[in-house]
Amino acid sequence: MTLPMIRPMTAPMNTNEKTRILNETFGFTSFREGQEEVVDALVRGEDVLAVMPTGAGKSLCYQVPALVRDGLAIVVSPLVALMRDQVAALALNGVAVETINSSRDRAENVDAWLRAADGRIKLLYLSPERLMTDRMLAALAKLDISLIAVDEAHCISQWGPSFRPEYEDLARLRQVFPSVPIAAFTATADEVTRADIRDRMFGERCHVFVQGFDRPNIRLAVEPKRSWKKQLLEVLAEHKGDNGIVYCLSRAKTEDAAGYLRDNGFRAMAYHAGMDAEDREIAQSAFMTEPDLVIVATIAFGMGIDKPDVRFVAHADLPGSIESYYQEIGRAGRDGLPATAHMLYGLDDIRMRRVFIEQENGDDERKRRENRRLDAFLAYCEAPECRRQSLLAYFGEASGPCGNCDVCQSPIATTDGTEEAQKLLSAVYRTGQIYGSGHVVDVVTGAATEKIRSAGHDQLPSYGSGKERSKDEWRSLLRQLVATGCLKIDIAGYGGLSMTEKGELLLKGEETFRYRPDAMPKKGSGKTRAKSAKTTDLSEDDRPLYEALRELRRDLARERGVPAYVIFTDRALQDMSARRPQTVEEFSQCHGVGEAKRREFAETFLTAIAAKIG
Ligand code: ADP
Ligand code: ZN
Repeated sequence: MTLPMIRPMTAPMNTNEKTRILNETFGFTSFREGQEEVVDALVRGEDVLAVMPTGAGKSLCYQVPALVRDGLAIVVSPLVALMRDQVAALALNGVAVETINSSRDRAENVDAWLRAADGRIKLLYLSPERLMTDRMLAALAKLDISLIAVDEAHCISQWGPSFRPEYEDLARLRQVFPSVPIAAFTATADEVTRADIRDRMFGERCHVFVQGFDRPNIRLAVEPKRSWKKQLLEVLAEHKGDNGIVYCLSRAKTEDAAGYLRDNGFRAMAYHAGMDAEDREIAQSAFMTEPDLVIVATIAFGMGIDKPDVRFVAHADLPGSIESYYQEIGRAGRDGLPATAHMLYGLDDIRMRRVFIEQENGDDERKRRENRRLDAFLAYCEAPECRRQSLLAYFGEASGPCGNCDVCQSPIATTDGTEEAQKLLSAVYRTGQIYGSGHVVDVVTGAATEKIRSAGHDQLPSYGSGKERSKDEWRSLLRQLVATGCLKIDIAGYGGLSMTEKGELLLKGEETFRYRPDAMPKKGSGKTRAKSAKTTDLSEDDRPLYEALRELRRDLARERGVPAYVIFTDRALQDMSARRPQTVEEFSQCHGVGEAKRREFAETFLTAIAAKIG
């Protein structure tokens, strides 16, 4: 249903007002791309659907209008932990903010409500189920409501994977508050979900802002899996002392990997759905407050992690789809500083993923669709073009080579491998299309195994036909034959390889095959690259001060029981380390220092800076 837009005219917008708030309250000098349009629309009192990638700075888009407009802003957010951190961050910036939720006791909630009803606060954070009770709605209707912001708005769509029943009811908001501007925010941007959010929440009359999917500060890399533990260490070596997430497929592997990282001098904790709630809570809150902790997790970790300074996301196994990959790497670098997304994947990952699809309940059509999605993802892994370009293309966004991915930085030359492919295919064919990759490679390289002898495979013409190349090279070729659909893996049995139509054409010589020789690791490669990436905003001279300020921040955060970034973000500390303020005035010019934080922290930080730089 479309409702006419009857809105009271708000006072003409005061440009200075929003900028003043941006500077004085948040300590930022300018809006980021995409923010100002949303802020303006909301200040004018219009409905907004904003689709912005993670880290774009959605919160500011409603927080600034909430402070510019008269009255109380309602913010709807699905997760208590997220609300808590946002409220803590706003409060430290001197904003009058409250939350009413199930994690607080009744007296606190009553007190919060009284302050809201009294007009003493500017923003009130609520869960959807709290907001949509008749009592709450009736009570709010008596107040002057400045705007309603709905975070994670895709949860309202039944099309999407993150549908939450308690979000459904938010569709009534438009009717209940006919003259209050409503803003819906999401980072999930496919067209169907977007249209669905709009239909449910607004009807036709709303501004839709869609910002691209690109996260240019995240360096993308995909690496064939050889020995994942060693490779993981190499990735993490570039991120000593940083927060990061390592995703693994299984619970056992998270424990194994976390232990291995600890043995190698990292602070690491496992996180998976098999742990009890309390242990999960401990790991999560440690991750939020400790600046150098690595969480090794299954996908159970992530939703509700709103930490801007996650410096890397590593995948020790292939995620389920490009969509989940994009969502998971999106947890890195929300603060806009350089971050790394590094994925390892191998033949066995492909097999596991196919098995999962097979085991899912669902009809054949669904399985076919899932397999096609997986094919698209594998194509991304093997594509010899810029990663970002392929990733964005998948989401329908055109772009040029990015210069910030493994392929752009060391271009991959594909070479003709038709003859090699034929050697592998004929080995598969002649051994009866029932053996897995290990055996096939053994046959081609002429290994002397018991399995080969007993099956008589040393008598085949294929035996030893590929002696001139290493096992690693053959494995890599085999992976690419599977990824490009020339061979398929028997997922019901033991991973036996068999021919596809495409493979048969190739074997007959009616098709050619190009492949990318895997770069074998060179000692020390990558290190210099990461170092330069990391220090773009920080010179080596400033690093000791930066480290000292990080420690100070950690102590302050512990004292107050808030995440470290709530005190100051990395970006803010880097700015302080470079500027080395000596007066309160200089301190207040640093990134992220608004009036409230200047009052609260100037002395502590100035003292620490003076002590460190002597
Ligand atoms: P999103 O919800 O879109 O993922 P957030 O609202 O959490 O992103 O913002 C991500 C980070 O960017 C936060 O640390 C926030 O303080 C910072 N940020 C947002 N807007 C600006 C700005 N205009 N200038 C500097 N930093 C900003
Ligand atoms: Zn690139």
